[in-house]
Amino acid sequence: GSFAELGLPAALMEVLAGLGVEKPFPIQAATLPSALAGRDVLGRARTGSGKTLAFGLALLARTAGRRAEPKRPLALVLVPTRELAQQVSEALDPCAKALGLRVATVVGGLGITRQAASLRAGAEVVVATPGRLADLVARRDCHLDQVRIAVLDEADQMCDLGFLPQVTETLDRMPAGGQRMLFSATLDRNVDQLVGQYLSEPVFASV
Ligand code: AMP
Repeated sequence: GSFAELGLPAALMEVLAGLGVEKPFPIQAATLPSALAGRDVLGRARTGSGKTLAFGLALLARTAGRRAEPKRPLALVLVPTRELAQQVSEALDPCAKALGLRVATVVGGLGITRQAASLRAGAEVVVATPGRLADLVARRDCHLDQVRIAVLDEADQMCDLGFLPQVTETLDRMPAGGQRMLFSATLDRNVDQLVGQYLSEPVFASV
């Protein structure tokens, strides 16, 4: 199979080819058609599987061309650590640029003022750790009322690090009926709770 057969926009395939990404990995082949169609996705996959592009390409393709007025985030990726946030942002950035989308990285331990400014400037896609995102929402520097696509990446790690309350508060601030994708290396009790509460008839893929 090819990315074209999975329904990916041509603009994205050009960027991917330039990055040496020519043929979908199994997690991508298993989830991209459903994710591009707007279905919820539950993926059991670890780092190295290609999960970032599995959710990222669908998120970007479905966000391109949409605008919120006033400028507010349309898509959100929640991750457990600052390092993973930076990796995800870097992986998505070239594809986002090709589609005219801006990615804001929102993480603890770095200046909050610059992060607030990039949100105010109109980033459509936010990659965030739960604690810092909650701070920005409390300061009214980040508004989640236009978010239509939410990804929980490494959900088991987010639960293990004690972020479950912030994750559920964040999801509860988004409009109901949006698309949700959850990726996790393990599907234990905490993750199960998130799946049951926030995913609707998800497509399941395990690699
Ligand atoms: P991830 O599991 O998302 O952290 O991705 C692991 C690595 O695989 C990253 O360096 C990606 O750039 C790379 N990668 C993801 N999908 C593909 C693909 N279809 N072909 C080649 N490399 C890929």
